[in-house]
Amino acid sequence: MVVGKMMSSVWVISIALLLLCFTAQCGQGAGGAQLQEQDGTRSELEEVDALKEKLIIGNRILDLNELVAPYGHISARIPNSDRIFITSAKSPGLVTVEDVLVVNLDGEVVEGEGITYSEVHMHTGIYKARDDVNAIAHTHSDYAVALTIADIPFQPSMNQALQYIGQAKTWDRIGTITTSELGEQVAEFLGADNALLFKRHGAVIVGPTVELTTIRAIFLERAAKLQLLATAVGKPVPFTSEESSRLLPANPSRPWQYYSSKVSQDLAP
Ligand SMILES: [Zn+2]
Repeated sequence: MVVGKMMSSVWVISIALLLLCFTAQCGQGAGGAQLQEQDGTRSELEEVDALKEKLIIGNRILDLNELVAPYGHISARIPNSDRIFITSAKSPGLVTVEDVLVVNLDGEVVEGEGITYSEVHMHTGIYKARDDVNAIAHTHSDYAVALTIADIPFQPSMNQALQYIGQAKTWDRIGTITTSELGEQVAEFLGADNALLFKRHGAVIVGPTVELTTIRAIFLERAAKLQLLATAVGKPVPFTSEESSRLLPANPSRPWQYYSSKVSQDLAP
């Protein structure tokens, strides 16, 4: 009898462990993402965590370069989903990974505590329209805005302006982008470009990665600054097509390494 009771207890414990294993998906986290590294590659969950941290580094780089203080934001599309990461409505220089929210393409917070920026609709509008865009920055930088106040069209006439940005049209409507309808109009105006300027307001910059979007934002502002300086002393001369053909494609690796080394690596609160 004692042996029989012990055996049945063993079976009960075994079945309980099996059920526990199935419930926890045996080594898989939410969404079935693999928790463990396989063949040295990062798991899906690790990639998502790394994307959150990269977004905070991007925020701090934009802040370091005085493109956003105290207003502005950057978002990233969560891979293989119709959701994005964007922070709660704080100044980009102050956000931490704790401030990262999950937002759907209607601009609604679906994970995390707090509210996000009222201009989240420019992000969602562009993500809905552009499958190639995985990161979007909105800046309020001085020189880019000064160009629009002077009613001067952006001209990509220095190396990185052409390599990283190309054309950037000016959206003439005054005001912030606080509705989904305006977000869709911004996306339509942007078309296939990498950036646009908002008259008397700022700029929006897009790209396939947080790194490239962040570096494009920096070079957009630098190009606007140089264009204004050139305009002050003469007439800026655009690249000839032969000159532009000599430029190499954009590669954000070195500038990202440089700028990320200058911001705090302590991303926790
Ligand atoms: Zn704005």
